[in-house]
Amino acid sequence: LEKKALVQRRATLSKPRVGPRIERTVQLLITPDEFEDVLFQVGRASKQADILRFLLETDDPLPRVSVVKEAVNAVSDSSLKALEKRGWIELLPAQTLVLPVPGFAAENLSGAEKGVLRTLQSAGHPMQLSALPAEMQAALEALRERHAVSVLTEPPRVALRLSPAEMADAIIALRGSEKHRQVLEMLALEDGAVWIGWVFAQTDATKKTLDDLAAIGAIAQDEARRWRDPLAGKAFTLSRPPTLTREQHTILKTILPALGKFDKPFLIHGVTGSGKTEIYLQAIAQVLRRGQGVIFLVPEIILATQIIERVRARFPERVAVWHSALSPGERFDTWERVRAGKLPIVVGPRSALFAPVQQPGLIIVDEEHEPAYKQDRTPTFHAREAAIELARLNDIPVILGSATPDVVSFRKAERGEYHLLTLPNRILAHRDHLGVQAGMLKRKSVAVPHGNQLMTLPLPPVTVVDLREELKAGNRSIFSRTLSAAIHETLNRGEQVILFLNRRGTATFVMCRDCGYVSDCPRCDSTLTFHNPTRQLVCHHCGYRGDAPTLCPDCGGNRIRYFGLGTERVEATLKREFPQARPIRLDRDTVRKAGAHYTFLEHFISGRANVMIGTQMVAKGLDLPMVTLVGVISADTALYLPDFRAAERTFQVLMQVAGRAGRSPLGGRVVLQTYTPDQPAIVAAAAHDYHTFYRDELEFRYEQGYPPFKRLARLTFAGNGRERSRAEAEELARQLRLRVDREGFPAVEIIGPAPTYVERVGSRYQWQILLRAPNPAEILRPVPLPLNWRVDIDPVSLL
Ligand code: ADP
Ligand code: ZN
Repeated sequence: LEKKALVQRRATLSKPRVGPRIERTVQLLITPDEFEDVLFQVGRASKQADILRFLLETDDPLPRVSVVKEAVNAVSDSSLKALEKRGWIELLPAQTLVLPVPGFAAENLSGAEKGVLRTLQSAGHPMQLSALPAEMQAALEALRERHAVSVLTEPPRVALRLSPAEMADAIIALRGSEKHRQVLEMLALEDGAVWIGWVFAQTDATKKTLDDLAAIGAIAQDEARRWRDPLAGKAFTLSRPPTLTREQHTILKTILPALGKFDKPFLIHGVTGSGKTEIYLQAIAQVLRRGQGVIFLVPEIILATQIIERVRARFPERVAVWHSALSPGERFDTWERVRAGKLPIVVGPRSALFAPVQQPGLIIVDEEHEPAYKQDRTPTFHAREAAIELARLNDIPVILGSATPDVVSFRKAERGEYHLLTLPNRILAHRDHLGVQAGMLKRKSVAVPHGNQLMTLPLPPVTVVDLREELKAGNRSIFSRTLSAAIHETLNRGEQVILFLNRRGTATFVMCRDCGYVSDCPRCDSTLTFHNPTRQLVCHHCGYRGDAPTLCPDCGGNRIRYFGLGTERVEATLKREFPQARPIRLDRDTVRKAGAHYTFLEHFISGRANVMIGTQMVAKGLDLPMVTLVGVISADTALYLPDFRAAERTFQVLMQVAGRAGRSPLGGRVVLQTYTPDQPAIVAAAAHDYHTFYRDELEFRYEQGYPPFKRLARLTFAGNGRERSRAEAEELARQLRLRVDREGFPAVEIIGPAPTYVERVGSRYQWQILLRAPNPAEILRPVPLPLNWRVDIDPVSLL
């Protein structure tokens, strides 16, 4: 139909579901002494209330009914009766009064007449005619004729039976203006305009109530834009910039002159706690002074709690957080305020790069080595590379920072593509900071250095424990004797412990617990992965499959098994073995939301918990002075993942987690448990030796043809049915090989296909092909990729 031009296709944007939140506000315009007046006028009309009001306001204590009726428009007897029935007024009927005429000489009076006259005189006030007995009537009549007494006729009158305060309540009750009163009284306690929702929450008011009050000019209703602030309600304290150390100062002096232009990226290689963040903060201050904005990338928002707090403490009201867990409303408002230039600093994970920062002046990529910066869903991109490109386009500097730079980044710095800046020493954090923390943990004696002098601290010593020896000595606990003793000591001193479990790679590879043998692929030396249902070992690199051994091929021992351990088990064992432990568990299962992470952290910081057990999450970003012991339950689990970056990732996370200990004068230590104490990544991590690790790793990458020496492209396919997917993958691999042969590309390899590490996702089987080439895109671009294939150039992980 479309071809015949009978129908036409058109794309439209659907209406956005979020918009600004407009909130109505209410503000009081009168003073409390005017309340009563207002309350007597609002609410429903009531004749009875009108009467009471007249009675309250008139000077006459006993006004005539006729006067009341005249004053209050169209009032009827029934209203007066009703008020009398409530007991609020009394209706005094018309009456005839008799009183003696003063000075009358009582001669010639009959005895009865004299008696009546005496009664009247002794009463001292006019008497009601009806109150006098009937037998007196004749004598009274005679006295009247002789002008000895006078007779007055009094009209009906109204008497009030309420105090003035009761009157006000009564009028308000009659008019139904109790709600109005609540509103006025509530607003009188507030300062200025109040959000309408708050008024509704605090009173019984309805919209009508407020409209009534507004109509009479008692309050003003207004509309105001309310910002949905993801940082609202989170406590923070303002911080002032400290004096920089000489090292920090040197680095800042290099960076600041570069503001306003793109040269090459700065790479700050600074050990954990060396003051990188402080440099970022002071650089940000300069950028703000230039009237520009900053994009501050962090690998993962929930791990960035402390960083965000620090940025916000330094630059209150100027920080936006930007991440996928914002509510649509928060996102809308944050986006608008960032775009309007109201929030010049945007902190967030990779997507923060696309926040509409006005006049960006600096981009910071903290923890630049983190794989979380790579988005491997389409569109795939690496936020670090994108950040550098964005900086280039805007002609502004970009700062990358890490304690364990990506091997590829460090290589670039070595080759002069990046500007390398180094912070080799750890700063002893501020002493008052420690004082506060120690106070929370109720510790009295903390040796705090005097004066304001800054000191550096050594990185914490690392004890490597060989778990094979533990088994030989008969210790089957997940805690070695060394770690166990250290936990006891630390907890007994009232200090805190972090226990780290590398979840990556647990339960997936086969290892001999006697000799440390790990199953490798006989074809390509990648680590084989254990697949439980089939009890097979699979190479995710080349596709090799074999049966899992029951005896160790190396030492013949029978304690060869797949490795598995979770944080729950660590927690249970800990509670059993250490009665003084109050653990909290921090992993992706317990911490689904950013807020939960914050709560967990607070719990630990405040000392309610003294052990934090966790996976990668506990390794990053925490600067907690009371943590004096870090235990690594098993250092090697991630070493054997079928990924060329396995060693690098292991080294990085071990360095990071080790960096959580010993951040204060209390000192600290790290106990690192491993089955492979000689593994170079573990040796280097234990020595805090980035450079040795880097050299070893670079050599390995060179030999194996991995980045930075060769580039990779990863093609993945997910299809139904294992064999169908395999056939599809094989067909594409064949075509690619054909193309490479035909065109004679040099130095190009096609590896695979092989099932991916996580082979099955739902009902789909995933296969991958690796392409190793100086320029993978050049080879792939002309190849028409079949449906459902994904291409990732420079993948950060092959898992
Ligand atoms: P990094 O980002 O390298 O881990 P931080 O910037 O977090 O290092 O610094 C580590 C600790 O030292 C923090 O508690 C920080 O407040 C403190 N610190 C950093 N620079 C200074 C300084 N110049 N003076 C005093 N304390 C500092
Ligand atoms: Zn293999």
